Amino acid sequence: MGSRSSLSCNHMPSNGLPVPPERAAAARAIAAILKPGLHVALTTHVNADGDGVGSEVGLWHLLRARGLHPVIANPTAIPDRFGFLLPDGADASDHAGREIARADVVVVLDISDLPRLGDLASSVRERRAPVVCIDHHVSPGTLPEGPRLVAPEATATAELVFDLATTLGWPLSADAARALYVGLLTDTGGFRFSNTTARALRVASALLEHGVNPESIYEAVYASAPEGRVRLLAEVLQTLVVEPVLGLAWVTVPNGALERHGATPDDLDGIVEHARSIAGVRLALLFRQIANGRIKVSFRSMGEVDSAALAQRFGGGGHHKAAGASLAGSLGEAQETVLRAARSYLNGG
Ligand code: 5GP
Ligand code: MN
Repeated sequence: MGSRSSLSCNHMPSNGLPVPPERAAAARAIAAILKPGLHVALTTHVNADGDGVGSEVGLWHLLRARGLHPVIANPTAIPDRFGFLLPDGADASDHAGREIARADVVVVLDISDLPRLGDLASSVRERRAPVVCIDHHVSPGTLPEGPRLVAPEATATAELVFDLATTLGWPLSADAARALYVGLLTDTGGFRFSNTTARALRVASALLEHGVNPESIYEAVYASAPEGRVRLLAEVLQTLVVEPVLGLAWVTVPNGALERHGATPDDLDGIVEHARSIAGVRLALLFRQIANGRIKVSFRSMGEVDSAALAQRFGGGGHHKAAGASLAGSLGEAQETVLRAARSYLNGG
C-alpha cells in the first residue's frame, strides 16, 4: 500500500461519506489484485439473500466498468425476487464450480465461512490464487488466504462494497447503486432493524443521489410476490407455538409445504419475523428441512438475547439478533435439541 498516494490521502470523495481507515486500507489491498482484464468469479452463501445478490451485482458493475470480466457463480440459484437486478449474462450459477476453477480471482461476499458456500466449498478451498472476502458477519473466517474487507459493525455487505468504490474513487452507476440499495434495504428489514445505523442511512441517501428509485425497488422486492408465497406464509403461521412465560415462539415449515405452493426457500424469508413480532417474545425460531436432509433453524431475538451465541452452539452463526444453524437428525429431534437449549438460555443458563 502507500504507492497510490492520490487515492490514500483522504477518503472524502464525491459522495461525501468518509470511510473508516481500516476499511480503506482493506479496500486498497483488494483493488491491488483486481487488475483490468482479469476474470473474476463473485460468489455468496447458499440461498443468497438481497445483500448477497445486491453486493455481487453492485461489484459486477464496478468491475466491468474497470475493464475486468466478472461473473456471478453462486452455490444455489438466485431467487426470482432479485432477478430484476441481474444484467444479461452476469449469472453463471448453473456452472459455478467451473467458473470458480477458471477465474483469476474469486471474491466471496456476505460470508467468511467455507461451509456456507455449500457445494462450492471444495472448489474455493482448492484454489491457489487469492480469495478476496467482503463481509459483515461475525464468524471463524475459514476461507483461504487473501485480502479481506470484513467489518462486523457494517450494516450490510453492500455498505462495504460502497466503501470499496468510495475509497478507490470508482464511480457508481445507477445500476450499481440500485443493487447496493437492495442489500441495505433487505438486511435492515426495510430500515427497521437495530443495524439501521446513521451511516447506513447516509449510504442509502448517497445511493438515492446516484439514481435509485425507492418505490420501484420496494415493488420489485416486496410487492411482486407469487401467490404461493402468501399461501405458504398462511400454512407456516398455522404451526405457531408460543411460550409466553419465557418469551419463546417458533414456527415450523411442514414437510412438502414448499412443493405444495410452488415456493422456494426465498419465499420463507421474513416469516420468522411474525413470530418475533408477538408482544413479549424475546426469541423466535423457524424450523425447516433442507435439501441435504438436515434441519435448518433461523434465530431472531430482541434486546439482550444473543441469537448468534445460540446458533454457534449448533455450528451456525450470524448476528446478535439474526442467526442460523443447521443440524443433523429429524425435524422432531432438532426441535427438541434446540428448544431445550433455547429454554435454558432464556432462563439464564
Ligand atoms: P437466516 O435465518 O435468514 O437464514 O439467516 C440469518 C443470519 O444468520 C444471516 O446473517 C445468515 O448469514 C446467518 N446464518 C444463517 N444460517 C447460517 C448457518 O448455517 N451458519 C452460519 N454460520 N450462519 C448462518
Ligand atoms: Mn448481509
